[in-house]
Amino acid sequence: MNQADPWAVLWDVDGTLVDTAELHFQAWLKLANELGKPFTRADFAGTFGWRNPEIIPKLFGTHYSEAEIADLGDYKENLYRAEAEKGVSLLPGVVALLHAIAAAGGKQAIGSSAPRRNIELILTMTNTGAHFAAVVALEDTRRGKPDPEVFLRGAEALDIDPNRCIVLEDAPVGVQAAKTGGMKAVGITFVGHHSAEKLRGAGADLVVNSLEHMTVRQLIDVISDEPRTM
Ligand SMILES: [Mg+2]
Repeated sequence: MNQADPWAVLWDVDGTLVDTAELHFQAWLKLANELGKPFTRADFAGTFGWRNPEIIPKLFGTHYSEAEIADLGDYKENLYRAEAEKGVSLLPGVVALLHAIAAAGGKQAIGSSAPRRNIELILTMTNTGAHFAAVVALEDTRRGKPDPEVFLRGAEALDIDPNRCIVLEDAPVGVQAAKTGGMKAVGITFVGHHSAEKLRGAGADLVVNSLEHMTVRQLIDVISDEPRTM
């Protein structure tokens, strides 16, 4: 690929841009306490990355109606946003990379399984919204990762061919989504929820501990299928 050709970076949010796992844990814990149900770290780990309609019956019982599950899910997301409003910080290297990609002419979008309101709050709190020409959220997709829909919609919104897109992800399902969509993928192990082996196994073209030393040159080399310079 010629460096002058259009290219784009599609960012996962949770575990890639920010680490909000603890905020989600605190929100679930508050909801569980209010319902008088137990909620442990193991419960959290066992349902991590699931959608609320599956998490709620698993944690709190199968007697809730669909409407009650939706209400409990909304309530939990409100608790989560209240936690997030106390402060969230970007993961190492993110700010510098956002600026470097923009300076090098790369387009950027968000591709996340989170509700749009959660993403907008994170982007506002971290003052990063201006970097993203498109935000693809839960509401914009019918199928979650590892289906490529979220990233394909991001590429489409940026008007960049998927084979000129690179996805930044902390989860194997996200890496799989990128690869199934015909994109390149970088796996990041910093938050520690998924191992380098699992990210490589999912097809990551490159696995790094954090974005702290990631350069635009490396991203373009991966997009171009050129030998890595790491
Ligand atoms: Mg993630």
